[in-house]
Amino acid sequence: MTESRSIQFFDVLITGAGFAGLCMAIKLKQQGKYSFAVLERGDQMGGTWRDNTYPGAACDVPSLLYSYSFETWPHWQRDYSPHDNIMAYMEHCVDRYGLGPHILTGQNVVKAQWLEQEGLWEAETEKGDIFRARFAIGSTGPLNKAKLPEIPGRENFAGPSWHTSHWQHDISLKGKRVAVIGTGASAIQVVPAIANEMKELILFQRTPPWVMPRKDKPVSEARRNRYRRFPWMQKLAREALYWKFESRAIAFVTFPGLMKTAKRMALRNLNKAIRDPNLRKQLIPDYDMGCKRVLRSDDYYPALTRKNVVLETESILKMDSNHIKTSSGKSYEVDLIVYATGFEAAEQMAPFEFLGRDGVDLRNLWAKGGEAYLGTTVAGFPNFFIVVGPNTGLGHNSIIHIIESQVQYIMSALDAMEKEGITRVEVKKEMQDKFNQEVQERLKGTIWNVGGCMSWYVNQEGKNTTLWPGYTWQFRRMLRRFHPADYNCS
Ligand code: NAP
Repeated sequence: MTESRSIQFFDVLITGAGFAGLCMAIKLKQQGKYSFAVLERGDQMGGTWRDNTYPGAACDVPSLLYSYSFETWPHWQRDYSPHDNIMAYMEHCVDRYGLGPHILTGQNVVKAQWLEQEGLWEAETEKGDIFRARFAIGSTGPLNKAKLPEIPGRENFAGPSWHTSHWQHDISLKGKRVAVIGTGASAIQVVPAIANEMKELILFQRTPPWVMPRKDKPVSEARRNRYRRFPWMQKLAREALYWKFESRAIAFVTFPGLMKTAKRMALRNLNKAIRDPNLRKQLIPDYDMGCKRVLRSDDYYPALTRKNVVLETESILKMDSNHIKTSSGKSYEVDLIVYATGFEAAEQMAPFEFLGRDGVDLRNLWAKGGEAYLGTTVAGFPNFFIVVGPNTGLGHNSIIHIIESQVQYIMSALDAMEKEGITRVEVKKEMQDKFNQEVQERLKGTIWNVGGCMSWYVNQEGKNTTLWPGYTWQFRRMLRRFHPADYNCS
């Protein structure tokens, strides 16, 4: 007897309910022409902000910029918002735009495939539910899979251990000897937030980050009131911040030499906070500023001067049930390990079996690095769009700007298809190749490629598949309108 599967049909299927998926959903909802569902693997929306609840979790981009341009919100508590405030904003957006019924939680997509005959995408979730739609939108983001280090004996560690994106809030750190491995954007927020709780914190640093002051401060009641009464004032402040951040791209992409000024500021920041010359020396990066993400913190360096905090710069050789051993033979007895070791960013652009025309799996196609046209569409994958796809990440400004540019492009595509009676679009391979050649060419001179560091921006093949090598306004201009001529249409 063959089992009959019930299939749910929509015009558009979105995968992932983070900032990107929600933005797409809002624009579809506002337009009102298409049925859509957001398939979300977690038990609530929020994407990376739902997952990363570690102590001190906050955004190092100011909230005015790290929020939708079309949805001002006068409830930001600080210039740089902590995790809870950001989640509250996202919940507000879900309510305001009535997205709740569209977000299907607990639906972890395990496979999606293009059905050529039907002209539809079909997605299957872990539960066994089947969804079909004319359009598939991938908005799972690059930071959804924790990366754990390959250290001999790691599996033998007997105490609790977790990654920053899976914080175990029910286990207290009080009085414990805790190892934190990694000194990236997550670690520099975690360390100051937990350092005072424990007996000893050993911070394992492989590469020191460049750290600029964040100058975070509370948003005064008066300012919040002003924004409540006059939303245009908030918009104006947002615009000013956008251009302030955008001007930084000059140093990242055009004149890397300009980073010298910022480097001087970062060194001043370090020297001011750290008196001990040995510690200072250990914290000075030996690569150009900007090559890795420039971090912003007011409390990271001061936390390292605490008596119960040890900075260990030797590499980790191995672990056993309760020790971490370094390359020179030092041994640290620890009760608990926090891995602040980042994400499988480049690999996670295609997080599940994703079969396009002729059964080509996007995971295989992108095994040596993702490529898309305008970071949004992929040859061989009809009626498929990605938000925050290959080479759309930023080192200098808010990713929300990129998200909004891509969502506007996708809406323009749907509009053009409807007007011109097109049911299927697939980007021309030569357009995609030409675009990617240009992107890689432009990346050649940037700080990320010439700055003398290893970062998650560049994959194992040495190819930068994550960052946009230009100004965000250029990206927006390129995606202003969908041009059917770039696509094979039928
Ligand atoms: P990350 O920036 O990739 O940092 C991972 C850290 O772990 C690095 O310091 C790395 O050292 C270290 N590491 C990895 N394997 C190691 C090993 N075997 N031994 C010792 N150290 C090891 O990861 P993340 O801090 O989670 O941040 C990832 C991204 O998330 C950021 O770039 C950012 O885009 C985002 N994020 C944003 C915010 C925000 O405020 N907006 C906050 C947190 C995260 P090496 O440098 O030597 O590789």
